Amino acid sequence: MDFSFTPEQEAFRREIRQWIKEEMPPDLGGLEGEYDPKSFEFTKQIAKKLGAKGWLTLAWPKEYGGQGRSPIEQLIYKEEMTYHRVPGTDMGVGGISWVGPTLMLLGTEEQKKEHLPPLAAGERWWCTGYSEPEAGSDMAAVKCRAVLQGDEYIINGQKVWTSGAHIADWCWLLVRTGPEEPKHRGLSLFLVDMKTPGITVRPVINMAGHHHFNEVFFDDVRVPKANLVGEENRGWYHVVIALDFERTAGVIMAAHGRRTLEDLLNFAKETKVNGQPLSKDPQVRQKLAELAIEVEVGRMLAYRIIWMQSQGMIPNYEASMIKVFASEAMQRIAMVGTQIMGLYGQLELNSKWAPLQGRIENAYLNSVGSLIAAGTSEIQRNIIAIRGLGLPR
Ligand SMILES: Cc1cc2nc3c(=O)[nH]c(=O)nc-3n(C[C@H](O)[C@H](O)[C@H](O)COP(=O)(O)OP(=O)(O)OC[C@H]3O[C@@H](n4cnc5c(N)ncnc54)[C@H](O)[C@@H]3O)c2cc1C
Repeated sequence: MDFSFTPEQEAFRREIRQWIKEEMPPDLGGLEGEYDPKSFEFTKQIAKKLGAKGWLTLAWPKEYGGQGRSPIEQLIYKEEMTYHRVPGTDMGVGGISWVGPTLMLLGTEEQKKEHLPPLAAGERWWCTGYSEPEAGSDMAAVKCRAVLQGDEYIINGQKVWTSGAHIADWCWLLVRTGPEEPKHRGLSLFLVDMKTPGITVRPVINMAGHHHFNEVFFDDVRVPKANLVGEENRGWYHVVIALDFERTAGVIMAAHGRRTLEDLLNFAKETKVNGQPLSKDPQVRQKLAELAIEVEVGRMLAYRIIWMQSQGMIPNYEASMIKVFASEAMQRIAMVGTQIMGLYGQLELNSKWAPLQGRIENAYLNSVGSLIAAGTSEIQRNIIAIRGLGLPR
């Protein structure tokens, strides 16, 4: 099996690296989360530049503002952007990764014309409204209600953990339209302009101290009928497609893990404890070697996903495998990092004495959410058991 890239693909990787060198500040410091109001202006600027280069939507068809390149080139782009910690490569929560691709499959021509070009240009930010206080893992329990009145649906209810809702222009929203139907059959998916009267966004600050997600309240929000995605009451089946796209984000987590491990290796080489570099400590070496195996496994799982996409397949339980493995590996990497840094490993992002600008502590705090977002590890393992291993529900 040959995992090497073609000379053209390697040249593309070099082109990306060169762009990053020219466009990004040499030291990004310990960046806050990319949707935190403190760093969002920078995120936005970068996204526009990437949009102008056509890189945000490399693998989208040309007719939708993409470049018609292969998923392998998109992988190279994602690996490099993640490795170099470039923010804004996803246009908010869902935009490029699942709103666009799902619209291409299910959207009307008007919806595609309206939404795909601004995504490709890096100009329209999205959030995703699935979860509610009583509907997380059991997403089909969604209660937020939409009722058709003439040419509009009237939406009432609440969403929670809505990442990036405070910066989003539009929301990819799952609501109940058929209260009499069985749970999974009474849901619909909508495109909702976040400026519509009746929407209130309230911040929820996460454990890493970032403004990342929110509660969103809908109070008689009027949404045109034309903003229904696919068919009424088929929203569950549409969202399952979007979730398969979403879970391939494990590819990004795998690249993030690789970069974090490299940072730790450099730290271990450069830091002396009792006159000896940490890299000579047998326990530290054992731990780092173990992590190197995990990083490599994550990369291979990522490459399998991308290969499947390049063959026209939609990864399903394979996407769950990379999501659960890469998010848990990231947590182990960050945990080992905080351990080998001793008490300094607990210092916050950008603290004066924090090694690696506090990024490891921050990565650990963020890793907890990554195990939950897009379906918890338990839910991913259930999917692997049922769809991958054929075990009963
Ligand atoms: C960082 C982050 C970002 C997020 N962003 C968004 C977003 O943008 N939009 C959005 O809609 N949601 C978002 N979420 C919400 C996320 O999708 C839910 O938190 C997640 O699906 C879990 O739901 P819950 O929190 O209600 O937990 P619950 O579903 O109540 O689960 C509680 C515990 O029970 C376990 N459990 C539940 N059911 C089963 C089962 N059948 N088998 C085994 N174990 C089970 C779970 O694994 C978990 O450990 C985000 C969450 C996080 C942490």
